[in-house]
Amino acid sequence: MSIIHQNRLNSPLAADIPVGLSHKEAIDLLATHGRNTISKTVAEPGWVLFVRQFKSPIVLLLVVASGMSFAFQEWLDGIAIIIVIVINAIIGFYMEYQAERSMEALKKLTSIPAKVLRDGKLMELNSEEIVPGDVIFLEAGDMTPADAIYLNGYQLQVDESALTGESVPVDKMPGSLSEGTPLAERTNALFKGTFVTKGNGWARVMSTGMQTELGKIAHLVQMASQAATPLERKLEEFSKHLMKITLGLVVIIFAVGWAGGQKIINMLETTIALAVAAIPEGLPIVATLALAQGMLKMAHYKVIVRRLSAVETLGGTTVICTDKTGTLTQNKMEVVMLNTPGGSWNILTDEAKSPNSTIAQDHYQMLQRIAILCNTAEIADENGELKEIGDPLETGLLKFALRQGEDVHSCRLECPKVEEIPFSSETKIMATMHNTPDGLMVFAKGAAEELLKCCVNILSRDGEIPLTPAFHMYWLHEAEQMAEFGLRVIAVAYKYERNDCDALTDRLAFIGLLGMIDPSREEVPAAIHECQQAGIQVIMVTGDHPATAKAIGKKLGLLKDDNDGVIIGSQMKDYEHLGEEDKDAWVAAKIFARTSPKQKLDLVKVLQERKAVVGMTGDGVNDAPALKKADIGIAMGQRGTQVAQEVADMVLKDDSFTSIVVAIREGRIIFDNIRKFVIYLLSCNLSELALIATVSILFLHFQLRPLQILFINLVTDVLPALALGLTAGRPGIMQNKPRSPHEPIIDRMRWRRIFFYATVITAATIGAVYFSHFIIHTGDAWDPQRCSNILFFSLIFAQLFHTLNMGSIDAPFFKTEVARNRYVWYSIGICLLIVFGLYQFEIVRSALSIVPMSATDWIVSIAAGLLAMVIIRIGKFLQFFRNDN
Ligand code: ADP
Ligand code: MG
Repeated sequence: MSIIHQNRLNSPLAADIPVGLSHKEAIDLLATHGRNTISKTVAEPGWVLFVRQFKSPIVLLLVVASGMSFAFQEWLDGIAIIIVIVINAIIGFYMEYQAERSMEALKKLTSIPAKVLRDGKLMELNSEEIVPGDVIFLEAGDMTPADAIYLNGYQLQVDESALTGESVPVDKMPGSLSEGTPLAERTNALFKGTFVTKGNGWARVMSTGMQTELGKIAHLVQMASQAATPLERKLEEFSKHLMKITLGLVVIIFAVGWAGGQKIINMLETTIALAVAAIPEGLPIVATLALAQGMLKMAHYKVIVRRLSAVETLGGTTVICTDKTGTLTQNKMEVVMLNTPGGSWNILTDEAKSPNSTIAQDHYQMLQRIAILCNTAEIADENGELKEIGDPLETGLLKFALRQGEDVHSCRLECPKVEEIPFSSETKIMATMHNTPDGLMVFAKGAAEELLKCCVNILSRDGEIPLTPAFHMYWLHEAEQMAEFGLRVIAVAYKYERNDCDALTDRLAFIGLLGMIDPSREEVPAAIHECQQAGIQVIMVTGDHPATAKAIGKKLGLLKDDNDGVIIGSQMKDYEHLGEEDKDAWVAAKIFARTSPKQKLDLVKVLQERKAVVGMTGDGVNDAPALKKADIGIAMGQRGTQVAQEVADMVLKDDSFTSIVVAIREGRIIFDNIRKFVIYLLSCNLSELALIATVSILFLHFQLRPLQILFINLVTDVLPALALGLTAGRPGIMQNKPRSPHEPIIDRMRWRRIFFYATVITAATIGAVYFSHFIIHTGDAWDPQRCSNILFFSLIFAQLFHTLNMGSIDAPFFKTEVARNRYVWYSIGICLLIVFGLYQFEIVRSALSIVPMSATDWIVSIAAGLLAMVIIRIGKFLQFFRNDN
């Protein structure tokens, strides 16, 4: 909870601020009305989640299997299968519960604050703590936290499209309306979930949480947000693939079995075993867990990912369009240069002199007045510490005035503000009107090109004279020269308001230019270099002067030479009129300067047409469409408005460009890991299918039992897969080109690789059986029991050791990212313990149809597992299947 500075309340607009609640009242009201949240489908109780685990095809199959066992009076089998069903449900329950908890934790991170009046002080609270009766303050860019009645304010305009579908913002007016006025026409009411596009004002909360209009339609919103991620959909495809293969195998096995005179019951049992082997049960949930874990990890890096599916998209980002101010730069602005017709001042050459000794009195005074009055920021000296509230550019101006010994507070009291046109990145100008001792005066500041257009006069050493085209050209040129140093240039102007029919920004008199320095962030050049290596294009999109943008772009290594493309907003045609050549130029450009938010949207469209996966940063209300359209909308946590944060896929807590790159790297790692465990699980399941099919088609004397396969899938596959999901990235992960958006998780090459893995594992395990029979037990009769056991155990070992094959081949075997992942070793260790531990129990052995094995049998099985691993590694190394995993 932080207290917003009191000065806010002193602004003339807030003359009659209503009285808010006291802290105590609020606590009581919170107890009666509950928290101000839209509850998602009343949090599922644990048992529902548990019961849901039984609603899968695999469970149905198992129930049939256990029913059959009971029918044939194989009591132990039947009971064992039931136990397996329960274990399966417990594991599924636990993982889903974990995933849900991670999501909850993430939701907490994205909560949005609200400005509330409590005990007479305006403070920022978590919007969940708002209660009916609270008085809230809203300004452009804020989300309305609850349903409220508008009390008073200034030009309040609200976008209610979330509720009414109407995308044109609505003007709000205090006053009363008759009962039953339709929602869209209630101009005195504000609704939760809508956002302020313009102005500001006070409102009294009427209802919160599920009582709000948004709460009443919440179930609609929920349905939209519960769609499966693209990843989950893709993963389901794999199960279908394996099912198809299974179906084919079943047909063959029945045909061959029937021709060979097999008993139906045996074939049925094999079929069930196949079906069990075909379903990679753990896949979707392991994937969701990996994504959720990734989101939590990114939160440590101060990146809040707001949609699970964004993690997946992130890794494939090909273009980052980034703001300059605050993202590439520190947004700590300081005035370092003044340039007026009445003289100039430059911190480098005139540091020892004060500006008012180098600049004519008239000009100096006007500059100071504008710095203080045409300014919405606050600055206060709190126990020797400067507290800054507002736009850094504006606090920079206030600091400058303060340093020159001006008294900000009394100047503002002396000249109260009567009107204001707020700064917008569309107009690039702001203006205010004040009641000064010299009469009504207008002060304006903004981009030089725009402000000079509004000027008819210029303040010369001899007073106001007309602004001739020559002067106009001269000062544009001066602005350009200052910008070339990388300075942010602000032009300032004024007028005495004599007739009030003019617009505030008409017929101004030009005073001069201010140059502000905004140091670039030190860590950015390295991050830009990393992007270039990773094949990610970085584009700077700024509202600032092209020369400023260019100077900073060069400093950051974004621009290699002067010929690199810089495109200026005024030269950009509307999207509808763009030809292919224009689009080529846009795609090749490195910097877009003096752009408007609409042009940001156009840029996203053009880039996407050219198959780019676009990350776009933004902070203002007007940036929302571009953020929504981009594949990854990135909002700023400190500087950004609530609206930008609400529509974004990702929020940067520290506003830094570096965090975007960190997130992309993390996204790539997560995708890599998902690929790893998908390949792992699919090759394991496929090897089981291949084994069962081979054995039954060739009428071999041994076979895997359904329960054994269940055991393998539930115990020895899931843990390594989970561990693979936690692998740290390959060292070279940011040296590869971005993955194409259409590239499937498992492409042809990887399918081939999976078949190769499965073939080797199958061959090695069957080989182990023959080795044991012909070499170890030479001359003995066939012992189907022992053979089946060796098959079972060598399959377990082969699959466990196979985990280590998921590392890249760029590194020596024990140095791959997988071998360095301690969780992989833990999971293998735990699985071995479980296998040997359970083997000790007579009852488990008979349920799994295992007889005691001799030491040599064990050695043969382990050796088979190791052999499979080595062959696969060699296969990978021979670059048959070149590429990452
Ligand atoms: P960006 O954030 O990309 O640097 P902006 O749209 O904020 O671009 O700023 C564009 C131009 O508008 C700046 O070069 C400056 O001249 C002017 N400007 C920026 N902020 C303000 C402000 N608060 N008041 C007046 N002019 C401003
Ligand atoms: Mg800005």
